[in-house]
Amino acid sequence: MKKKRLPLIIGAVISVALIVSIFVVINYKNNQVNVASDEEQPAAEQGKKDTPKNEPTKEPTKNKEPEEQPDENGYYPNQTMPTEPTYINGILIANKKYPLPSTFAPEENPEARQALNMMIAEAKKQGFNLVAFSGYRSYDYQTTLYNNYVKRDGQAAADRYSARPGFSEHQTGLAFDIGEVGKEDLWLTEEFGETPAGQWLFDNAAQFGFILRFPENKEHITGYMYESWHYRYVGTEIANKIKEKNITLEEYLGVE
Ligand SMILES: [Zn+2]
Repeated sequence: MKKKRLPLIIGAVISVALIVSIFVVINYKNNQVNVASDEEQPAAEQGKKDTPKNEPTKEPTKNKEPEEQPDENGYYPNQTMPTEPTYINGILIANKKYPLPSTFAPEENPEARQALNMMIAEAKKQGFNLVAFSGYRSYDYQTTLYNNYVKRDGQAAADRYSARPGFSEHQTGLAFDIGEVGKEDLWLTEEFGETPAGQWLFDNAAQFGFILRFPENKEHITGYMYESWHYRYVGTEIANKIKEKNITLEEYLGVE
């Protein structure tokens, strides 16, 4: 009896071993395909720097109403201009979603100017000769400025670097465009941010209550391309929080 069973048992063991190894090979190949496709996804995502991180988790059926969607220039088509400026938690906000009334003319904020002067003085001690070459702008002045840019570069291009009247943070009296004396050719350029003076400003502005208002890769949130020169006064407490978290004013206020 034992002699007859032995070949049967061996046969059965070999068959099971074959089936298991075929299964293992198929599984291995499937895993390889999965690994390859997983690796492709982040690479493709890397190119989409302007895609908001939380976009895919939003349910498509819960889209905002059409009039609340910004156009290709970041403006809201059926927007009516407000009669009052918008304060969120006591912080004045001016962007493409929250414009300022044409009648809002606070002039330059004295506290912001004082903080700016202190910052410029400290920079000088460190060997950087900074200057604020643009500060408070009235509604009418912004109108002239914007219209000139549109004439020169066209509206779509102008909308990426200049605000329409009522939408400029310079109208708040809290924003300054900063550059280096003697390096005027770098004023209003990304390159300023890469200079030692621009780096010093970026690193130290929060200590004086200023934030880099339009950081790199945040255009989808702020509505403006990277502006290495545009600083907004928010006070040291908020400026430090925004800097530490590496976020924008919109994100800090929860209106991104
Ligand atoms: Zn500016």
